[in-house]
Amino acid sequence: MQIAVVEDDDGVGDALVEALGTHGHQAVRMRRGSDLLLGHRGVDAVILDLGLPDADGLQVLRQLRAVSDVPVVILTARDDERSVVRGLRGGADDYLVKPARLAELLARLDVVTQRRRATGPSSAQTVTQGDVVVDLAAREVEVGGAPVSLTAKEFELLEVLVTRPGAAVSRQQLMDAVWGDAYVAISRTLDVHMTGLRAKLGRPGLISTIRGYGYRWGT
Ligand code: CA
Repeated sequence: MQIAVVEDDDGVGDALVEALGTHGHQAVRMRRGSDLLLGHRGVDAVILDLGLPDADGLQVLRQLRAVSDVPVVILTARDDERSVVRGLRGGADDYLVKPARLAELLARLDVVTQRRRATGPSSAQTVTQGDVVVDLAAREVEVGGAPVSLTAKEFELLEVLVTRPGAAVSRQQLMDAVWGDAYVAISRTLDVHMTGLRAKLGRPGLISTIRGYGYRWGT
């Protein structure tokens, strides 16, 4: 598994990266909360310290949860009940107090990632809605039997929407998935690509706007 180790303490961080490596995982060391918010894609699990130099880990977790359901295990020196409850309520899958035993940490990582896989979204290769067919593997779109040529960004936007049919997808989730950063001001870029995508599909109502939130594919 690829595991993000979000830890500003070099002693703890280096030891974790090495230990995870010897157990067959690929650990990516991150020192700041913002590193995680920018680099969580492709990561299978996160080990999250709470005392980080740029933000409190609980705040980082909240921001992460707005865009991602990657499994998170909090690993912190904070052992008070309030912090544990806030961590778990804030979307952490598990909570461990330092110093944690390595075997226990590895076991808990396994549990949270297996649980997530069991409930994860199905990976359909083709999505059909009316006469619109989206082939996710080939990255091709047909409308009324005719191929439609989309730009890379337009296709990525479409992909995010069609893999969550009927669900409200926030602008933040779209920007994070397609541009890799939900926290920079690229709102208008999203609008431009969404306008292009809708025009090319030529099926009004297929992607509906949820005012003040985002978009939805299908009905
Ligand atoms: Ca720390």
